Amino acid sequence: MSTIFKKIIDKEINADIVYENDTVLAFKDLNPAAPVHILIIPKKEIPTINEISLEDKEILGEMFIVVKEIAEKLKIKNNGYRLVFNCNEDAGQTVFHIHMHLLAGRKLSWPPG
Ligand code: 5GP
Repeated sequence: MSTIFKKIIDKEINADIVYENDTVLAFKDLNPAAPVHILIIPKKEIPTINEISLEDKEILGEMFIVVKEIAEKLKIKNNGYRLVFNCNEDAGQTVFHIHMHLLAGRKLSWPPG
């Protein structure tokens, strides 16, 4: 089933897009948990990490390359950042279209609560 992220991909609803190519889209999180909070998503609809397959490996690799470019552009690569995928209920996944959270701009505690 399609999610709100599909509507963002299709430009049916607005998002603050920071990067886009044929396979990946990155945009600012609506409710940022850090001064920098960007979501990197594949344009292909995959509900959770449990549904990824070998044929998705290039898409997943590209998501990390996009992170690298964004980190450079936003000048956060040296101070650092955190990448998070939430999967299903215990991790708090709320949108069932896989997405990588890129968090930066402050000290991030570890382990997560
Ligand atoms: P999850 O909890 O599934 O790992 O993360 C979903 C994220 O999507 C949340 O951080 C939430 O703030 C963000 N989000 C949900 N709906 C929208 C939206 O319509 N636009 C944007 N930019 N972010 C959204």
